[in-house]
Amino acid sequence: MRKYLVAGNWKMNGGLAVNAELCERMVAGLAPDDAVTVLVCPPFPYLESVRAKLPGETVRLGAQNVSAYPSGAYTGEVSAGMLRDLGCEYVIVGHSERRAMMHESSEIVAAKFAAALREELTPILCVGETLEQRESGETEQVIGEQMNAVLDELGVDSFESAVIAYEPVWAIGTGRTASPQQAQDVHRFIRNILVELDVDLADKVQILYGGSVKGDNASGLFAMPDIDGGLIGGASLDAAQFLAIADAAASQP
Ligand code: PEP
Repeated sequence: MRKYLVAGNWKMNGGLAVNAELCERMVAGLAPDDAVTVLVCPPFPYLESVRAKLPGETVRLGAQNVSAYPSGAYTGEVSAGMLRDLGCEYVIVGHSERRAMMHESSEIVAAKFAAALREELTPILCVGETLEQRESGETEQVIGEQMNAVLDELGVDSFESAVIAYEPVWAIGTGRTASPQQAQDVHRFIRNILVELDVDLADKVQILYGGSVKGDNASGLFAMPDIDGGLIGGASLDAAQFLAIADAAASQP
């Protein structure tokens, strides 16, 4: 039985005071639930102060990006070891905003995935197609290539302690969510890629959906058999919304 994971990607938002209030409201509103892991991924400069505001294990800490290198002359980069030092357990790799705006190729994403694993961080590998790719029937090909970049380099065992997030680019920050069935179809496709390689492992890997998840659509998405939670952008900055999404996961039978 896979646990749900509800992960907030704060992107480049927040500030000391705003984060403190958001954390306080989250901690006050969240009941520990064995079936759901709740995670927040603030910007790098706030990792430590956010961790201090999240006592215990009710809310886990993650980062939004990581260097592929362990240390050295990489100005402006942050290594997996540094994230581990600051209490991170997870790190997002291959978010579509980084693939598109920072020109991160699938090979770079695979190297970041490997760097995270070396420091025992759980990578959250984002995959997803653009609207143009969906409309031209290329969804499976695009996602297959994004998955294979990691599988070819690191093998299926590397997914033993990794999470996948299916994030259709056309649904991110647009208010346009994939329907539960549209998302489920792609989640099933992703899981089947792993089934071909290792049936037992495939059954254990958490696959999150991301793209305009809100309090009022989370439940329908999380009810689908291959959707194991969400990667939440905009709604993770609003405590009431984020709590409603976590509650939608906790309320699944
Ligand atoms: C994201 O950026 O990972 C995301 C899912 O954003 P939003 O929820 O705002 O669509």
